[in-house]
Formats: sequence, structure tokens, C-alpha cells
Amino acid sequence: MKLFNENNNWYRGNLHTHTNISDGLLSPEDAIERYRQEGYDFMAITDHNKFYKGIEMEDFTILSGTEIHINDYKTRKAFHIVGLNMDNEPTVPKEPNPQDLIDSILGQNGLAILAHPSWSMLSHEDALDLKGYMGMEIWNTVSETGSNRGSSESYVDTVASKGCIKALLAVDDTHFYSDDLFGGYIMLNSPSLKTEDIVENIKKHNFYATQGPIIKQITVKEDRIHIETSPVEQISFMSDNFYDADRVQKCKDKPLESATYIYGENDTWVRIECIDSEGKKAWSQIIII
Ligand SMILES: [Zn+2]
Ligand SMILES: [Zn+2]
Repeated sequence: MKLFNENNNWYRGNLHTHTNISDGLLSPEDAIERYRQEGYDFMAITDHNKFYKGIEMEDFTILSGTEIHINDYKTRKAFHIVGLNMDNEPTVPKEPNPQDLIDSILGQNGLAILAHPSWSMLSHEDALDLKGYMGMEIWNTVSETGSNRGSSESYVDTVASKGCIKALLAVDDTHFYSDDLFGGYIMLNSPSLKTEDIVENIKKHNFYATQGPIIKQITVKEDRIHIETSPVEQISFMSDNFYDADRVQKCKDKPLESATYIYGENDTWVRIECIDSEGKKAWSQIIII
């Protein structure tokens, strides 16, 4: 089975962006223009506790967005939830608990994403206890450039190994500080840029996350998973098994453009990570086998 529909198009999107509506430096109009000029096809403006409406243009789509949060300095946990494609502004109770943030987004028919769990210093139980969110940021650019905690790879593996399987996103969380844009995005496999197609294919996990490397196709057949990519140095097949001799496949005399993993009886899911010669990564979704 091929995971990506070859009749669909590929669209590049950033689903976590701040503007001068909250603590970002550019206006929404300028922010949108920067991403358009860079070749992106869709984005969301997700200012802190502000709702930004969705807009469909001919060749660019904006999903409605927000980011609502609790920063708890007693427990040293930050719960930041990005809301996408809501009908209206979510109504958050006065003293919300973390689940209230998610529920308020779901109450407006939105998608809730657990933002930057490593930056937030969340425990694994935190992700396991929350209900109703559909995705997690495996990469967050500003968490890397500003805080050196951009990657949540290990966090994702640990919670997935306990049954918490979510869509994996790479986002910039741009504030336009200068070095926090174009560092991570998703590539969506969708028939069009209509909002409903974007949302449906996000819900289906029909995309991958990347800093540059391209995942062309992933094929699951019998007991093997095969991936085709742009030239990369290493392809790793992460799973909920502790060890597999074929997990990390490195290039020898020339770059890798494909790799195959034969999964074993102790693998219940696999996700694939690629690293190119510049150290840029691409991340597949979690594939349940
Ligand atoms: Zn945040
Ligand atoms: Zn943010």
C-alpha cells in the first residue's frame, strides 16, 4: 500500500505563526507575504489568545488559528495548544485547566495541536492524560533558535510507545525575530488548497514534516516498509521496540534515496527520520503496523 496518493499535489505549509497581534514583530499581512514569497502554499496565524480568521485566496490558503496556553511556574509546565480551522474564537474559561484549552478548540470544530512539548517541559503523562488533540509538534523552529529545545523526537517516541499516536508536525512558531522562519514545515498530500481538502488531509495524517529533505513515497507491503526520498545521509526507522539492527541505515559511497525496514514482532508502529548532508531532517508520520 502506498501511503501518499500520486494523483494529489504537494503543498507546503506553516501552521504556527505569531504576528504583531500578539508578540510577533510583523503585521499579519507582511507575515503572510513573507511565507508566500518563500514558496509556501498555506499557513495559519496563531497569535496568543487571539483568533485569526481563515482566508481562501486563489493560490494561498490561511486556516483560522490561535494559540492558547497555561504557563505554570509552580509545576514548571507550559501547556500551549494551537487551534486550527475553528469556526469562531474559542471560549476559554477564566481559570482553565489544560484540558479546557483543548475542549474550547474542539467546541469550535477546530483541530487541537500540542505545541512544542519539549520546550514546555511536559511529562509524558501530560500528553497521555490530555484527550481530543490530534497532533504534536515534533519540531518547532523558535524553540530551537531561542531556547535550544526545538526537537520533541524522543518525547514523541516515548508517548507513542504508550499508545499516544498523534499526527506529527514541524512548524516555525515564527515571531519574525530573524532566525525563526523557514526552519520546519509540513508537506501536505492533497488534491487542492481548498480549506476542506487541507483539513481533511491533515486529519488523515496525509503529510510529512521536514526541514528540507523530500519524502517522495512510503510503501507498506507484507512485513516491510519502504521509503523513497531526496538524497540523504541517513534513514532511521524508529519504533516502539528498544533495538533493531536495521534501524539506522547510513549511506556508504553515495547518498541514500531509499531504504527498507523489515519490521519484527516487537514493533507495533514505525516512524521514519531522514537526515541530509546539511543535517536537515524529515519526519514521517507514525505508521501503525
Ligand atoms: Zn507556544
Ligand atoms: Zn507559538
